[in-house]
Amino acid sequence: MTGSADFVYETRPVRVVFRAGAAVSAVPGEARHLGLRRLLVVCGSRGETTARAVAEALGDACAGLYAEARMHVPVEVADRAVAVARAAGADGCVAVGGGSAIGLGKAIALRTGLPLIAVPSTYAGSEMTPVWGLTEHGVKRTGRDPVVQPRSVVYDPELTLSLPVPLTVTSGVNALAHAVEALYAPDTSPLVSLMAREGVRAMAEALPRLAAEPTGLDARGRALYAAWLCGACLGATTMGLHHKLCHVLGGTFGLPHAATHTVVLPYVLAHNAPAVPQAMAALGRALETDDTPRALRDLSVGLGAPRSLAELGLDEGDLTMAAEQVAGLPYANPRPVTTQGVLGVLRAAFEGRDVTVSY
Ligand code: NAD
Repeated sequence: MTGSADFVYETRPVRVVFRAGAAVSAVPGEARHLGLRRLLVVCGSRGETTARAVAEALGDACAGLYAEARMHVPVEVADRAVAVARAAGADGCVAVGGGSAIGLGKAIALRTGLPLIAVPSTYAGSEMTPVWGLTEHGVKRTGRDPVVQPRSVVYDPELTLSLPVPLTVTSGVNALAHAVEALYAPDTSPLVSLMAREGVRAMAEALPRLAAEPTGLDARGRALYAAWLCGACLGATTMGLHHKLCHVLGGTFGLPHAATHTVVLPYVLAHNAPAVPQAMAALGRALETDDTPRALRDLSVGLGAPRSLAELGLDEGDLTMAAEQVAGLPYANPRPVTTQGVLGVLRAAFEGRDVTVSY
């Protein structure tokens, strides 16, 4: 992407507050800023302690706490949450936690139009996007709707101190994946490119520090800052083969979200590399390498992340079905997507083969 290339960039009205301790200290002010007086706080079971502290900080402006968020937002969980929000007379929601909790807040927003405040505790990036997801009968549907875009995002590095190292690493690489695909997205732009490069640089620098010292607040802040930038890239662009592949592996085959992104990313990037020399050059500069797929894999494997889809529990017999599903979906990718091409990527990721730029 050169500075003079044509582009379209759309920005949405999102307020971002970034401060250690802000989960509790800033949410009441954000609610007032949005004119909200009765907020339902939603979270998963692990995030309940922080969510309860947020609820207490809201005082009379808290309409209740719903701690039932689950991975991939099952539709029956969303239905119950909507009923709870309506019964409580909520005029807004606060989602505290990872992508699953924020996904539940988005599902409530989708059905009710209630404004959402997001307080993320992982690096998944959902808080910066207008994308929702709902799972029914084992099938995950996603869509874009500006109503689910959180109006206010409160980033608190202290919330991420409890993230175990394995999830820190895989969630960090999940964020890197957004930046990587944004660099070659059909709707990329100079601002997206700047955010992507800075996000990649900051996350790649923070992860080894966090693996060595998971409670280092400075490195936690760096990683969360990177997650914000990478999430903003995700929200501003259309994702390609990597995200579609991970969507199918998670939605249809039940593989864990962040770990799947971590294993798959180097292989998809090596596959797309011949078609995206400018993105590869930008990533190479950000990571100070001339072989980004290998550098990404060395980074995650060196920090103890899973190496293969086999390790994550994918059945070898499912590779062809997964490849057919991924090739059958309509989406933009710099290289044409064929079943054989996807199968090649999947097989390499399944076996955890060595990876290198293939051009
Ligand atoms: P998650 O929210 O399911 O969290 C993973 C695990 O980590 C959970 O067990 C959770 O309780 C725990 N956890 C979260 N924060 C923690 C913390 N600070 N300390 C200790 N444990 C913590 O997973 P995720 O990777 O954050 O999000 C994945 C989900 O989000 C998927 O369903 C994915 O599809 C969705 N997602 C959506 C978008 C979007 O734009 N719509 C973007 C990214 C991810």
